[in-house]
Amino acid sequence: MGKVLIIGAGGVANVVVHKCCQNPEVFEEICIASRTKSKCDAMKAELDGGKTKIQTAKVDADNTDEVIALIKSFKPEMVINVALPYQDLTIMDACLATGVHYLDTANYELPEIPKFEYSWQWAYKERFEKAGLTAILGCGFDPGVTGVFSAYALKHYFDEINYIDIVDANAGDHGYPFATNFNPEINIREITAEGKYWEEGKWIITEPLEIKRVYDLPVIGPKDTYLLYHEELESLAKNITGLKRIRFFMTFSQNYINHLTVLQNVGMTSIEPILFEGKMIQPLHFLKAVLPDPASLGPRTKGKTNIGNICQGFKDGKPVTYYVYNICDHEACYAEVGSQAISYTTGVPAMIGAKLLLEGVWKKPGVYNVEEFDPDPFMDELNKQGLPWIEDFNPTLID
Ligand code: NDP
Repeated sequence: MGKVLIIGAGGVANVVVHKCCQNPEVFEEICIASRTKSKCDAMKAELDGGKTKIQTAKVDADNTDEVIALIKSFKPEMVINVALPYQDLTIMDACLATGVHYLDTANYELPEIPKFEYSWQWAYKERFEKAGLTAILGCGFDPGVTGVFSAYALKHYFDEINYIDIVDANAGDHGYPFATNFNPEINIREITAEGKYWEEGKWIITEPLEIKRVYDLPVIGPKDTYLLYHEELESLAKNITGLKRIRFFMTFSQNYINHLTVLQNVGMTSIEPILFEGKMIQPLHFLKAVLPDPASLGPRTKGKTNIGNICQGFKDGKPVTYYVYNICDHEACYAEVGSQAISYTTGVPAMIGAKLLLEGVWKKPGVYNVEEFDPDPFMDELNKQGLPWIEDFNPTLID
């Protein structure tokens, strides 16, 4: 059915590539392009010989002209952007210049200031509309599936959802004293930022990791969860009818918090450039270089993730409580595609979004967050493509 350009060759890209190759009737031909071409070639070497034809290319996606040239030579219908959030706008510009659709898993970030907001990408809406092109934003798990879960809950079980708590729990153990499960720079920027949640039309700011709750999660048991700001809160606060409050909680072990606190106290998580041996460097960039590569965690990680939404609201005047979540097993993911569950839970939804776009099911000109599309076909695909979901109409609530 289609040709797709995949930009990036990290943990998430590896899953996207495997999953595209498992759906060759939709992904007839793919090109894997990244800054380090050898990583793309390694994926091709592993998967070549199947029904999906694979090409590779070197591209610096910070450079719009390079992306344009690559799109012109490969001629895809769409780009799946699983590089870093810094490349979102250059790739969107290249898509507009060449008339191809766009999908990503993380909002655009300025390299120098962490913002986690959609304003820059939402500003492209009219240009995508006029060009008749679809851009799907934040189509990983969170953001991504958590938006689809919200839309599905609203469509089937509620007239209005008043409260949503998204809980992202990782009970995986990689055996290292400290490592991040995806790109360390993005991960640490997210966790060390102020916490923030939305209530009654306003954003409430907290100190980083100030709000802690212990939540007893299905299958993985009680875990320390911390309130963080997460980018889907911005779009869900806008798009979900009747919402009064939305919060996001992520689990961290005491060991993880201790390491992070020390790194922060000594200045290693700062993105302020410092002079080091005659060169300006960002301490966080240096820290990324010495931490384990997230892609290397796959073979070592055991345990499960549990990510889902706890929703409260009303249907036909009666109160409804609904929890929908997915459990994903790190070792099973590694056995299937050679990546751990964090990459898997991001890469599978990215492939599903691209599949629905190519099939014309999730195609509408403009720039959209996932909850603005019909959730049903996506929910069906989650069950088929390795991320089945579970519903609970009597969950414990977070106070
Ligand atoms: P990695 O760091 O493992 O991989 C990023 C890849 O992008 C690398 O191959 C890197 O190249 C490539 N890249 C970086 N800069 C450029 C550039 N200028 N041009 C071309 N390629 C470039 O990250 P992950 O795979 O873990 O994450 C990928 C994306 O997924 C990120 O945006 C992350 O924020 C997002 N994400 C989303 C989640 C969700 O649930 N929505 C959850 C987890 C991640 P090189 O190999 O040369 O460094």
